[in-house]
Amino acid sequence: MHSPTEADAVIIGAGPVGLFQVFELGLLEIKVHVIDSLPEAGGQCIELYPDKPIYDIPAIPVCSGRELTNNLLKQIEPFSPKFHLGQEVTQLEKQADGRFLIRTSQDQYFLSKTVFIAAGVGAFQPRLLNLAGIESLVDQQIFYRVKYPERFTGKRIVICGGGDSALDWVLYFADKAASVTLIHRRDDFKAAPQSIAKMRELCATGKIQLLIGQITGYETTENKLTDIVVTDIEGKTKMLPLDDLLIFFGLSPKLGPIAEWGLDIDRKQIAVDTEKFQTSIAGIYAVGDINVYPGKKKLILSGFHEAALAAFAAAAYIHPEKQIQLQYTTTSPKLHKVLGVKSPTFE
Ligand SMILES: Cc1cc2nc3c(=O)[nH]c(=O)nc-3n(C[C@H](O)[C@H](O)[C@H](O)COP(=O)(O)OP(=O)(O)OC[C@H]3O[C@@H](n4cnc5c(N)ncnc54)[C@H](O)[C@@H]3O)c2cc1C
Repeated sequence: MHSPTEADAVIIGAGPVGLFQVFELGLLEIKVHVIDSLPEAGGQCIELYPDKPIYDIPAIPVCSGRELTNNLLKQIEPFSPKFHLGQEVTQLEKQADGRFLIRTSQDQYFLSKTVFIAAGVGAFQPRLLNLAGIESLVDQQIFYRVKYPERFTGKRIVICGGGDSALDWVLYFADKAASVTLIHRRDDFKAAPQSIAKMRELCATGKIQLLIGQITGYETTENKLTDIVVTDIEGKTKMLPLDDLLIFFGLSPKLGPIAEWGLDIDRKQIAVDTEKFQTSIAGIYAVGDINVYPGKKKLILSGFHEAALAAFAAAAYIHPEKQIQLQYTTTSPKLHKVLGVKSPTFE
């Protein structure tokens, strides 16, 4: 085991509630590590509706999912949280000394006094191509995420999907790859209109190819993927030679390992009290869409309130000897110091 990073608090999930949890803990001078399975912070706001308007954030008449995320990231800057993105928390175990050992899918370990589960509807995972026996080709020639775009330069690539990710990468690779073929099950795309128009333009000039159909088989030689079989709507099949296959079927959330951490779970949600938003294990809090209690409403503003109360509870748990007082950010010189702002003078 790599030596664990010691911490006062680890937040699992960088959705809007996980981000605001950083702020509330920061005001109480608790530094945090934030882990998310996605490569970017923002949770559902970024993954599901980055450009759609939200109208019910108090005092912000309207903002998009992306704007809300960017504002939250700006708001927590004074507290310099450490982000560990693109890795799922797979294990959480209480140790003999009362701390929690956390392990991620990239074998990073954390030993933390408290844990905040802000995991929303679960970790977002790519929807997989359903073909028997392809597992050994994943991350070799079949990819669900583009980590290193330069890897595909000069290759014959096939991109599968009909959303923004598929089209963005088609446009990106159009003049970098040896050839680009886009495959989608119907001639109807759910992506930005300008991307669809550009893709159609590239098809018309023969720069890329568009096939309407589904991948139903593949050929390998010496464990190397050489061709895929594409079946069109009429059931006709076609062999397509390729070097690499990029699949963008979207992401679906999975509660996954959280169900195995010994917490009280009620229909895929973690039961908490409404004083501390503590789970059935002292020192572990659950905030945002992942928790359940009488009257729970899955709204961002409910998550923000929960984060504030959970932070006060955790401060008392970490420092039982200290008196934790409520202070106003408007008037408290102490809070101005932690926020790195000048204290205003009141007449
Ligand atoms: C289309 C749509 C529109 C919406 N509009 C509104 C609205 O107008 N107003 C409103 O208040 N709410 C709205 N919501 C709901 C709102 O988005 C959620 O309430 C909010 O995102 C919950 O935030 P969260 O931080 O709890 O969870 P999420 O946003 O779901 O974030 C959770 C994060 O945790 C990560 N995670 C989960 N498990 C793990 C793990 N094991 N390891 C690492 N990372 C993990 C996930 O990858 C994810 O990034 C809308 C939702 C949708 C789908």
